[in-house]
Amino acid sequence: MSKLSFDRILQSQGFGTRKYCRELIEDGEVSINGEVHDNYKELIETEGLVFTIFEEEWTYRQHVYICLNKPANFECSRKPSHHPGVLTLLPDQLSWRDVQPVGRLDHDTTGMLLMSDDGPFIHMQSSPKRHIPKIYVATTAEPVTDDLVKELLGGVQLHDEPAPLAAQSCVRLSEFQLQIVLEQGKYHQVKRMLAAAGNHCAALTRTAIGQLQLASLGLEEGEWCYLDPEHLALLV
Ligand code: URA
Repeated sequence: MSKLSFDRILQSQGFGTRKYCRELIEDGEVSINGEVHDNYKELIETEGLVFTIFEEEWTYRQHVYICLNKPANFECSRKPSHHPGVLTLLPDQLSWRDVQPVGRLDHDTTGMLLMSDDGPFIHMQSSPKRHIPKIYVATTAEPVTDDLVKELLGGVQLHDEPAPLAAQSCVRLSEFQLQIVLEQGKYHQVKRMLAAAGNHCAALTRTAIGQLQLASLGLEEGEWCYLDPEHLALLV
């Protein structure tokens, strides 16, 4: 249980500066359970808090954990250069509360992208020490052969890596598609591993992280959802 003043609550949820949040409250734009609360100094219990601003309902969240089904042609960088950033796919309140992608997908890679404003969570999820499996489906330019699968499982040498990198699992799905599971998250890793094994990645999508499957969340490309503790527990 923790109480905070109403202006701090709104600011923490990404509604703007403290000054702007105070104005919203004093103008009577914010209500709780249908009742206007216009004193920005009022101490309010944050646990379970649901409030309404301009007739839209919001639930207080100390931190947000988000899964986006990333479409192609969006960049994960905070300062995108050639395509719009993935943050533009979220409501303004979320980008204002310092939500960041957890790791990166290339601009042309689609699928599961986690985002959060919880620094320790981002750090933990991105840590190479945790070996969290990332599951990708790659469409290849050349047919997927048994030799290709063997080579990816055995390990391929990338020019800037000290030792060969191997897939944790690799399964041929069809003539031009394979599922590959990686424990590392090196730059362009799937594309570079396929190239080093003599093939070419024509399209790439991430379908799962740990035990959490994108398909279980029912998101169309470009859609996102909050992850609850049960989802987070599957990210192992
Ligand atoms: N590997 C790649 O090559 N690209 C990605 O976006 C993710 C993994």
